[in-house]
Amino acid sequence: MTLVTETAIDAAADPRDRGGPAQPMLIVENIKKYFPIRAGLLNRKVAEVKAVDDISFYVMKGETLGIVGESGCGKSTLARLLMYLIERDEGNLVLDGDLVGEKSGVPIDALRRSLQMVFQDSYSSLNPRLPIEQSIAYGPKVQGIKPKKAKEQAQDLLGKVGLRPNLFSQRYPHELSGGQKQRVNIARALALDPRLLILDEAVSALDKSVEAQVLNLLSELKEQLNLTYIFISHDLHVVQYISDRVLVMYLGQVVEIGPVDKLYSNPKHPYTQALLACRLSMDPDERVDAAPLAGDPPNPVNPPSGCRFHTRCPHAEDICMAKAPALGDVLKATPDQHLAACHMAQAGSGHSKAPATLAELFNI
Ligand code: SF4
Repeated sequence: MTLVTETAIDAAADPRDRGGPAQPMLIVENIKKYFPIRAGLLNRKVAEVKAVDDISFYVMKGETLGIVGESGCGKSTLARLLMYLIERDEGNLVLDGDLVGEKSGVPIDALRRSLQMVFQDSYSSLNPRLPIEQSIAYGPKVQGIKPKKAKEQAQDLLGKVGLRPNLFSQRYPHELSGGQKQRVNIARALALDPRLLILDEAVSALDKSVEAQVLNLLSELKEQLNLTYIFISHDLHVVQYISDRVLVMYLGQVVEIGPVDKLYSNPKHPYTQALLACRLSMDPDERVDAAPLAGDPPNPVNPPSGCRFHTRCPHAEDICMAKAPALGDVLKATPDQHLAACHMAQAGSGHSKAPATLAELFNI
């Protein structure tokens, strides 16, 4: 898999680029979203679901950041926060060096043009009453592009996603297969000329052969159009195939982040180790008898104290219940650094399996 530094785009390749390849495309800083739970006659807030709880990371230009975790870990809420489809409670987004916000450098409309999203359900994402060419041309027309030009662009995009315009442009969504519909959704997302695509379980509903074709198409489009991807999926095989770096979420927080090769060959967090051990294998010798990850994730309304994974972790000790392990400063880390929020990965944390500190090594 290509390293992040090698995939960073040439700044001169995109006239919209401001800070060059060393400046991240998107910085997400301490973002939080708690959903209130209301009850009673007065509809008072009685609790909150901590869907996204103080998450920070960045995405370099031209890279693919994979986001993995069990369902309910907050991956999709995070994607919607990035698109401003839901309001965040706290935190900042910085797009190519400029803060995003109503009164800041990048207005929200401009962010929504620069970031586009492709969802899992390819059929309900499309208007069943519109031929697909019109579905693709709709966004540009709303943005003020003349209908003739929007139609030409739509036909061009159909060709780019591998659907011959003369055969497909007048078809309706119900006349297409799942893979073809997802190609249309990708074309529609590209119609506003975005710089970053958020792909939320975008290939999860496709069967394996179609999934491979759509993944290859995504790789080709990324090269052709200098795109950056955030690829959200519960399928660790697919994430390994497409990502440069991977971020692992558990109960609304980041527990591990690092380059795909390092993270897959040497996962540091027991949750990532369990997820990787759960992967299905075609090799009968690699059958798993005991489930590596037992039980359901705890209730995000009342997450466990200390390390949120301690209720399911085979290595949990008293320190894990008493103190939350720190992930480290993700925003200051370089893309090739591998960080994990686990006491076992931190020297001197008090966990019996933590590496020794320098003072312990030299008996000072
Ligand atoms: Fe397990 Fe403790 Fe590490 Fe949490 S901090 S993952 S409970 S060893």
